[in-house]
Amino acid sequence: MTELRIAIVGFGKIARDQHVGAIAATPGARLAAVASRNASLPGVPHFATVEELLEKGPQIDAVSLCTPPQVRRAQAAAALAAGKHVMLEKPPGTGVAELDPLIAMAAEAGRTLFATWHSRYAPAVEPARAWLATRCIASVRIIWKEDVRVWHPGQAWIWEPGGLGVFDPGINALSILTRILPKPVFVTAAELAFPANCQAPIAANLKLTDISGLPVTAEFDFRQTGPQSWDIVVETDQGQLSLSRGGRIMAVDGKIIAEEPDQEYRELYRRFVELAATGASDVDLAPLRLVADAFLLGRRTIVEPFVD
Ligand code: NAP
Repeated sequence: MTELRIAIVGFGKIARDQHVGAIAATPGARLAAVASRNASLPGVPHFATVEELLEKGPQIDAVSLCTPPQVRRAQAAAALAAGKHVMLEKPPGTGVAELDPLIAMAAEAGRTLFATWHSRYAPAVEPARAWLATRCIASVRIIWKEDVRVWHPGQAWIWEPGGLGVFDPGINALSILTRILPKPVFVTAAELAFPANCQAPIAANLKLTDISGLPVTAEFDFRQTGPQSWDIVVETDQGQLSLSRGGRIMAVDGKIIAEEPDQEYRELYRRFVELAATGASDVDLAPLRLVADAFLLGRRTIVEPFVD
């Protein structure tokens, strides 16, 4: 197998927490460089920007873009134009249509564009999808509530246009939802709470449904202190399925059926290596479209300013 030489672009929280270790643990992948304005990794060639990396860097085959969504489209376009495979952190863009030219560029160049949804690789997601495939689903409730100060300290970009606010974690729930349900869902109503000093919501309540009228609700909140919730509860004709801890644990009527260690990012890089071997792309925009529709349909309220 040819080794995929990967450069991480944007060496922030998720690059450090997950990408470096996952690349090291993936057969056929190697970290070849880092491009980040203010951060570097000892022993790994460093460049300030993706442009400098592409111009002066070592031979690489791929970039993994771990920057905030607002700057990723231009970085992806530059990397694809230079013949590199591209892995995008979630969300894949700040808008839906901006992905179209990237998809076209990747197809034309025979390079991989991989829009990742790490939560889809949580260990209980596929077991839940298989279990639901043979049940009649009555309702779905998503409760995704976390403390933004704990999980996104000092990340000003999250509150700017395109930063998504509470949808930054909420889109992970929607990526699981759109994977485990047998039919496509769409948003019918949304309530969005914007801090008076922010351009993105701190909380959101969504109603969704599918062609058969399935009731789906989603509660997203960034103001959760104490216990954190990343739960999806599905009522069916044969019992209640719950996915908790972001898709890590599956239980039926309270009895745990699947619980495995977190391998999400290793699975992402395994998939990236697999895709790059043939230059195939994997871009599913369903979760981003739901978020975009929540913004289109959203009833807005202004709440107290957010101070980090
Ligand atoms: P972060 O800690 O803010 O890191 C992003 C890095 O990108 C920054 O450290 C910065 O490094 C660089 N950057 C910021 N603004 C830039 C700009 N305008 N131009 C070029 N580079 C810029 O953010 P993160 O939490 O790692 O999140 C990055 C992405 O990963 C987001 O889309 C997020 O949704 C996703 N993600 C995050 C998590 C998590 O738990 N944090 C989990 C899964 C996915 P330099 O200053 O050195 O350039």
